[in-house]
Amino acid sequence: MSDYDVVIGLEVHAQLQTNTKLFCGCSTAFGAQSNTQTCPVCLGLPGALPVLNSKAVDMAIRTGLALNCSITTPNQFARKNYFYPDLPKGYQISQFDRPICEHGWVDIELDQGGQRVRICRAHLEEDAGKNMHQTGVGVSHVDMNRCGMPLLEIVTEPDLRSSDGAVVYLKTLRDTLVYLEVCDGNMEEGSMRCEPNVSLKPKGQEAFGTKVELKNINSFKFVKHALDYEIQRQAAVLTDGGKITQETRSWDPERGISVVMRSKEEAHDYRYFPEPDLLPVEIPEETINALRDRLPELSKAKCERFITEYALPPYDAALLTSSRPLADYFEACVAGFQNPKTVSNWVMGELLHALKNDNIDVGSSPMKPDRLVALMTLVEDQTISLKTAREIFLDLFRSQQAPADFVQERGLTQISDDGALETLIDDIVRKHPSQCAEYQGGNEKLLGFFVGQVMKSSKGKANPQKVNTLLQQRLASEKVAT
Ligand code: ADP
Ligand code: MG
Ligand code: ZN
Repeated sequence: MSDYDVVIGLEVHAQLQTNTKLFCGCSTAFGAQSNTQTCPVCLGLPGALPVLNSKAVDMAIRTGLALNCSITTPNQFARKNYFYPDLPKGYQISQFDRPICEHGWVDIELDQGGQRVRICRAHLEEDAGKNMHQTGVGVSHVDMNRCGMPLLEIVTEPDLRSSDGAVVYLKTLRDTLVYLEVCDGNMEEGSMRCEPNVSLKPKGQEAFGTKVELKNINSFKFVKHALDYEIQRQAAVLTDGGKITQETRSWDPERGISVVMRSKEEAHDYRYFPEPDLLPVEIPEETINALRDRLPELSKAKCERFITEYALPPYDAALLTSSRPLADYFEACVAGFQNPKTVSNWVMGELLHALKNDNIDVGSSPMKPDRLVALMTLVEDQTISLKTAREIFLDLFRSQQAPADFVQERGLTQISDDGALETLIDDIVRKHPSQCAEYQGGNEKLLGFFVGQVMKSSKGKANPQKVNTLLQQRLASEKVAT
């Protein structure tokens, strides 16, 4: 295997988060009953005419700009002709020789250093419907709800050199799409789909080998599995002196193998031609500039800013900026509590733990930033101990209560009042005359014993630092008295 260089290029279909489809007003909501979100346009009924969704165009441009692409104007839609039961028009409206975005790149971080992955194009196209085969009964159904859903197909140059690199690229791309709020990035639900192309060539050889395209991959894990399997398969064929057939293979996650879907001989001739029902899309310079100005800060820039602005360790910054809602949550907390590292500890620790535990995403956290700020403040002003705060976190998280009320109701307020603490201390010192004498005789380790006793008698509510100071004073004064 090490006799070969691996070459990988990726085609990603990102479903754009518009409310309506690419060429009609039908809803894009997920999970509706079959064939309830259709109209003459997306069903391809005779005479129906497509109207381009300008939101989808904006999203494509924003993505293109974030991926360092140039924006093609005018860009143009084209018909990609083929027959399939889930394609009622008999053609898909896509883009061919004038895609909306071209010639960009994505920088990724690999263990062995940074790499620039070139994007050759990103184009708009409509999705097809969904065939559903009822196994065993010889019946198939088709759901047209997905017909006409807006997709952006993002295609890389064959720049990747390993399955790990492919996964890092995909995750980086997903982060960007999610940050831009153009796609939810959910591979399991199919709103981000990936088709890797892979080939091998003898080490050092310049010319690329014959590629195989992999389909039906619906998680990051399967991207790696499918590529590793394909790399091994091709290496075995080549080592045996065989030739790779250019083909499309489908990944079967259950069996952990890929099977041939179609070979080059069966490849489609799509007979692309310009879509006569849609004008070329002119994009004024001002539109591009306005969209560029409104691009959000992306994860890499945000991570760097978190390190400089909040003096966070790189580990914290990377984790907190791994999603935009999480980064927003953190910043909302920092706005109300001026110790970023303390906020980071709570967010990365207790908060993420509780979210994971209850399977909630940060955007819907019942513990809103203002309540976490209130909790941190209770610790800061010594109303409760850090230990207590940690212990009550999960219950507090699940409740709707203000932390101050929660703590009050359960009598968890820390005793910091000197008078109250002195009474407790007095009692303990009196009860342990022999330990007291031993301490005064020089066994200062016994201080821990006394602190422990006072904490116990206060049911853990005494402020340990104060107890420590007051006890030392008390034991010293006892000595003078004797
Ligand atoms: P096709 O016309 O078969 O779709 P493209 O040239 O459009 O082929 O490329 C599709 C994808 O395959 C791109 O991501 C490209 O980078 C990748 N690719 C092209 N040639 C190779 C190769 N020899 N090995 C691996 N990937 C390749
Ligand atoms: Mg292709
Ligand atoms: Zn429709």
